[in-house]
Amino acid sequence: MEDFFGQASGVDSKLHRVVRRLLMLQMVMIATTLPIHAQAQQGVTVWVQQDAVVHGRVLIVAEDVASKLFAEAGVRIKWRCGHPTGDAISIEFSERTPSGYRPGSMAFALPYEGVHITVFYDRISRSTVADLMPTVLGHVLAHEITHVLQRIDRHSETGVMKAHWTNADLDQMVSRRLSFTAEDIELIQGGLSSRALPASTQKLGEKTAEHPLSR
Ligand SMILES: [Zn+2]
Repeated sequence: MEDFFGQASGVDSKLHRVVRRLLMLQMVMIATTLPIHAQAQQGVTVWVQQDAVVHGRVLIVAEDVASKLFAEAGVRIKWRCGHPTGDAISIEFSERTPSGYRPGSMAFALPYEGVHITVFYDRISRSTVADLMPTVLGHVLAHEITHVLQRIDRHSETGVMKAHWTNADLDQMVSRRLSFTAEDIELIQGGLSSRALPASTQKLGEKTAEHPLSR
């Protein structure tokens, strides 16, 4: 007895070919409609220049929060400590940010340049109770990395990519994390595709995307 995809003979062969094509088409449709977390994840390396500014445990938990957020967007973050090579994403922390420098911002990224992120750790620390620090920092990291991955300066009406987080957003961070919108995820995936292109075809610039954390 032959299996369904085996060689058929006689008048059945044409019917088998048609059925086989239909089944293959159905399989392709199923593959394209799987939820994003069920599809293969793309890896992104992020270098963190810690320089002892951030307590080690706070950073580990914050990275875990950001990793879980990105997993929902089909992205697996590979965290590295130190200074990057090439055009890998790089995060540095500021602990003595001048009050007049980008006032109101907790961090900023260079989305069109696609590499550098600066987190004003001192400002986040002053505005956040210690217990919530890893959670808030994780969301800030995810927010800024998303700017760099999307390679455009934009925000969403809800979730991780909101321009201003409210107390209600902070409450949700603590209870079950914020989330990305469908458009956020689409732009992240599009940005990852363009990241794979040769540097000469990528759009470069210095425009910054900031993230003020409002209360
Ligand atoms: Zn932002």
